[in-house]
Amino acid sequence: MAETRAAEWVRPAIRALSAYRVADASGLVKLDAMENPWPWPAELREGWQEALAAEPVNRYPDPAAGEVADRLRRVFGVPEAADLLLGNGSDEILQILIHAVAERGRTVVAPEPGFAMYRLLAEAAGMEFVGVPLGEDFRLDREALIAAIAEHEPALVFLAWPNNPTGNLFEPEAVEAALTAAPGLVVVDEAYHAFARESFLPRVVDHPDLIVLRTLSKAGLAGLRLGFAAGHPEWLAELDKIRLPYNINRLTQATARFALDHWDAFEVQAAAIRDERERLYAALVERPGLAVWPSAANFLLFRAPEGQGRALFEGIRERGVLIKDLSGAGGALADCLRVTVGTPKENAAFLEALDGSLRGMS
Ligand SMILES: *Cc1c(COP(=O)(O)O)cnc(C)c1O
Repeated sequence: MAETRAAEWVRPAIRALSAYRVADASGLVKLDAMENPWPWPAELREGWQEALAAEPVNRYPDPAAGEVADRLRRVFGVPEAADLLLGNGSDEILQILIHAVAERGRTVVAPEPGFAMYRLLAEAAGMEFVGVPLGEDFRLDREALIAAIAEHEPALVFLAWPNNPTGNLFEPEAVEAALTAAPGLVVVDEAYHAFARESFLPRVVDHPDLIVLRTLSKAGLAGLRLGFAAGHPEWLAELDKIRLPYNINRLTQATARFALDHWDAFEVQAAAIRDERERLYAALVERPGLAVWPSAANFLLFRAPEGQGRALFEGIRERGVLIKDLSGAGGALADCLRVTVGTPKENAAFLEALDGSLRGMS
């Protein structure tokens, strides 16, 4: 094909980015993306399919997804004074948040290692991203965060709670300190709430410049793409202006209504995943040569013997299990790998692949 004018016209900030790559999991046990490993309970399938079949897909969906929003409020106990904004995944809401405040010379601050999208979206919007290194055992370094806030006066501070990829919950007092110090908006991203069960959601009432983000992805509906933000109506009214109309499609709305009416089933699955997480943690602690960190999410971060992170990841993949290799990032994540908690059978397959690879390396 002939050459295009893309190099000339695409903004330099975009040209400098690399696309978010998703590894190919075909034929592998998939423990790389924090999905819930369990399908829907069989007794729910028929009702769900009927609900979908009744949707007139020739018509646009409810632009505000009002019936979904009502159920989200009820199931997750959103404070009445807060407003909601729904997104095509919480990733879309991150993009909306950044788009709303982006201006040259403005900054986004977040701890590092952290969720990759914060940096990617901030830089794509032409903002400066400042990562604040986490302290020992990935604890939030309160002084460093407050100092970064004072120096950069960020428009936005992102705190993933629990943090991805480290799995820990930062001390609530440190998050509160950030809320007090920040001159702009603070977003507490609770993507893993189903497994942590602690929340800043009730505190949006006392903190007008706090927004709490949630998603249904990690709890069991990753394929649906539905997340929401809760916060002060003044912030949310601004964000709503740049939300694309009909961003939550009809099939997602119908499925979400049905799923939220049967949310008990997802809570049972989350409890099973939390139990499995503890078993998997104990199993990793037992493996000599590995370091593993406790987690309040549905994944575990662990460190391979020095210099062997990449080789261990590849050994596990060759034995049929896909996890996430974070060792390339170096620094605090040197030799670190992340495994999503799967079913008991998947976790057993992972441990077997892990042991096989560890033996192969020694
Ligand atoms: C997975 C994840 C998200 C994105 O979730 P989606 O709703 O699927 O877009 C957001 N924040 C964190 C910290 C995550 O780990």
